[in-house]
Amino acid sequence: MKNIIFIAPPAAGKGTQSSIIEKKYNLPHISTGDILRDEAKKDSELGRYISEVLDNGELVKNEITYELLTNRLSQSDCKNGYVLDGFPRNIEQAYKYDEILKDLNQELGYVLKLDIPQEVLEKRITGRRICEDCGTVYNINSINEKPQTESICDKCGGRLYQRNDDNITSFKNRYDLYIEKTKPLLDYYTEKGILYVINGDASVEEVAERIDKVLKEGM
Ligand code: AMP
Repeated sequence: MKNIIFIAPPAAGKGTQSSIIEKKYNLPHISTGDILRDEAKKDSELGRYISEVLDNGELVKNEITYELLTNRLSQSDCKNGYVLDGFPRNIEQAYKYDEILKDLNQELGYVLKLDIPQEVLEKRITGRRICEDCGTVYNINSINEKPQTESICDKCGGRLYQRNDDNITSFKNRYDLYIEKTKPLLDYYTEKGILYVINGDASVEEVAERIDKVLKEGM
């Protein structure tokens, strides 16, 4: 299986869809956001720096992200492909990613872009809740996606939490940053002929089917 990169605005469902692909195709799901959130929990200077950047909806310095990502992609479970969610986020990171892949003897694979209107994203962001144990994502603003019992994970009984950056102010920063920085990235991957645009404004299952179709046709 080829590597997969997801490009999508905040709360578009890239984490959820990456987890579905992870199970279906047995590929590790690597999220730079998750890696950075883990690092932010540490009681260190680096942890405190990352925590502040995340809360403001800005981007963590490239050198830090590159090091953490390269360490993760060098692990043996990534040898046969992976789903990368949250990287690259701008053209500079895309060039760096080409270098990282070259060093690891890996190929780019597919780039999947999820398209969703901004107003839908705003609703999702304020309702998003995540299980602190298994990472399952819920949405309390959606009848189909809310947990059966408030604040408790249906799957494992873990507690649900809200990300610090899941508020409207931080969302607006992250969304504007996404629009500004992804355009050149999309042009870059379109030229390479590996960009697939998927309409992500549908149920989790429908979007997963659309992605599946692209992956099966492209295999
Ligand atoms: P995400 O979970 O993808 O929404 O990412 C959450 C936050 O982590 C972002 O708002 C950034 O602060 C940080 N982050 C994630 N990926 C990157 C990246 N590739 N470069 C810099 N910062 C990142």
